[in-house]
Amino acid sequence: MNSDKLLTGDYKALGENSTRVLIVDDETASRELLAQMLVKGGYVVRPVSSGCDALNVMRQEPFDIVLLDIVMPEMDGFECLELIRKDHAVSKLPVIMVTDETDRNNIVAAFRAGANDYITRPFDYELALARIGTHAKLRMTLSALRASEERYALAARGSNDGLWDWDVKQGTVYYSPRWKAMLGYSDREISDSASEWTNRVHPDDLEKFYHSTVNQPSASKTNLECEIRMLHRDGGYRWMLCRGVYVRNGSVVIYRLAGSLTDITEGKVGDALTGLPNRLLFVDRLERAIEKFARFPESFFAVMFLDLDNFKLINDSLGHQAGDRLLITIARRLEACLRTSDSVCRLHEKSTLARHAGDEFTVLLEALSIPEDVEIVANRVLTALSEPIDLEGQEIFPTVSIGWAVGESPSVRAEDLLREADTAMYHAKREGRNRHRRFEIGMQHRATMRLQLEKDLRHALAHDEFYLNYQPIIGLESSCVMGFETLVRWRHPTKGLVPPQEFISTAEETGLIVPLGWWITEKACEQAALWEAQYYQDRHLFVTVNCAVKQLYQPDFLNQFKEILERTGANPHCICIEVTESTLMDRAELIRPVLIGLRDMGVRIGIDDFGTGYSSLAYLHRFPLDMLKVDRSFINTMLECNESFEIVRTIVDLGHNLRLKTVAEGVETETQRSKLAELGCKFAQGYLWSPPVNHELAVQYMLSQPSSRVPCAPSTTEVRATSLLPA
Ligand code: C2E
Ligand code: CA
Ligand code: CA
Repeated sequence: MNSDKLLTGDYKALGENSTRVLIVDDETASRELLAQMLVKGGYVVRPVSSGCDALNVMRQEPFDIVLLDIVMPEMDGFECLELIRKDHAVSKLPVIMVTDETDRNNIVAAFRAGANDYITRPFDYELALARIGTHAKLRMTLSALRASEERYALAARGSNDGLWDWDVKQGTVYYSPRWKAMLGYSDREISDSASEWTNRVHPDDLEKFYHSTVNQPSASKTNLECEIRMLHRDGGYRWMLCRGVYVRNGSVVIYRLAGSLTDITEGKVGDALTGLPNRLLFVDRLERAIEKFARFPESFFAVMFLDLDNFKLINDSLGHQAGDRLLITIARRLEACLRTSDSVCRLHEKSTLARHAGDEFTVLLEALSIPEDVEIVANRVLTALSEPIDLEGQEIFPTVSIGWAVGESPSVRAEDLLREADTAMYHAKREGRNRHRRFEIGMQHRATMRLQLEKDLRHALAHDEFYLNYQPIIGLESSCVMGFETLVRWRHPTKGLVPPQEFISTAEETGLIVPLGWWITEKACEQAALWEAQYYQDRHLFVTVNCAVKQLYQPDFLNQFKEILERTGANPHCICIEVTESTLMDRAELIRPVLIGLRDMGVRIGIDDFGTGYSSLAYLHRFPLDMLKVDRSFINTMLECNESFEIVRTIVDLGHNLRLKTVAEGVETETQRSKLAELGCKFAQGYLWSPPVNHELAVQYMLSQPSSRVPCAPSTTEVRATSLLPA
């Protein structure tokens, strides 16, 4: 190394921007020539005469490019390159091999070993300088590219990206081992031919791919970016995000491309189903919209968050293929009613806003003149999406709930806007679905309230603030009390009585319904055992208990239920679990074995709120059911609304056909009662007889009924026959 002069006098004093080239060549003449040529070209050079020296200086100083002679004594260029590549990736430090013109085999081998390019002796000054210049530029653009990758939040995956370097003229591509591994191949299994790539691009993406790469017509474009599907060794397609830079000859012809390949199929990104952009890209676009807004605050942008209503029900009852078709249709309709500059994406289940079925979409609206424009778009979307769709021969009217938030400050963060839109969507859902809501600060307030409620609920559980009420269920033929529905009540220390509608859903969302549900079940079973002991001579009373879906999912549910039955001495035939129709349909395959387990214990099962969900008859058959409860909303309106009346009639008939007991809920008038009796409905409950009351009043009511002092029908056997749940 001591024999080598540093060819620029004050090497270190030069600005950081000068490109530093390490020249490794054992032949003095060749080395000097290269050095002079490069110094003339404005480079800072460091000539050394052996591979060992090269590795030594590289440990002490940083270099931007290495020119490496292939044929050298002791350590040759290949060995040296191999050692360099241990510390410096192909994409980070270009190594240009120096060799004799005739040495084609060596050149190919050098590329394999991780060289970026080559120049040949005798040197063609212009060509050599152009090549080195290209790498200097490429290196700078690649580091800029890496910086922009960080903006894509892909930095963490950066090391997972495959790298490629495409020589357009030769038709060869350097594929990094990772590039090959991403498609399931080892390093040796893929050659450096460009067709290794193009043959693996999905036919539908090929045109886009060529247009983004070698056929890019616009000379002003420097960066390429496209999403394509590529064939994996396993036969499936993976979504790949392909990014890179163009290197042009003069101004037009692209002769080289280089960049990275990222697998965006997995997890939260990439939506192979609908072909929509992934969430990462969406967030990136949103961030750019925020930046743009900071510069041009005269136009607004907004985020819409869409969630399909009842998607899981459709998915479960009509099958996943139908569900997929629905999602694709929704995606196309969404695109059709937005401007091309707007972005749509589908969130996947692993997104931070997890939904099981991936039925969430987000939309970025840009260049809005007033925030209220979003309303117009939202209404248009609601109309466009609700057009009927034929799925598996069934006509479905899909609806969505939309929340939206407007970007009004340049300091807003993308994630915050998304969350706000999501919160607003949640409100749209709660208010009855198929509508849109703009995010308001008050919504956040309500979220805080919910947190408080959760705290209060925990306290209530620990301090015995709950108690049970019972509502009599009446046999319509005999007019006597057949059983009771258990309904929980909460006496809040300061707020007084809190109705279940205000806390059950929070208890369900937070999981508190599980301990609360066990408490209710145990109390209800105790009561049932007591009543059976006291009134068994007169009647066979049964007690129904509402059961939330989260309870049924408990792995130990059946065992715990059995323990409660044993502990309380309740007769399982006198206990009936009420499960809402939507619970049942939501995860039919998970729920079914649990219900069968209950049935095997002798416990009865009823469907609550029947008529409000999407059950198909085929499904009803598959559950061990004893009872159908017609939802209150139909009973409410059956006298005024013909449709409700028809629904009630249909459900009662269905109950007959499936040999289920049908109970009408919320009967308030005599007219409703007689109409129900006329339709053949056998059981009912409602304010007409009694509201839910505590256990003493419940018994009082039962005993006050004219038919209750004697068995409620002329003979015991007849009671048995009409009893909802025969012993
Ligand atoms: P649900 O299971 O459909 O309960 C029937 C609701 O209708 C009860 O409201 C009851 O008080 C009310 N109701 C009964 N008769 C009439 C009537 O003639 N007219 C009118 N307008 N309403 C009547 P409640 O007790 O407020 O319960 C509301 C919901 O809260 C229940 O709906 C159920 O989903 C849930 N819930 C109540 N108790 C429990 C419980 O112990 N466990 C679980 N998991 N959920 C419960
Ligand atoms: Ca119920
Ligand atoms: Ca109900």
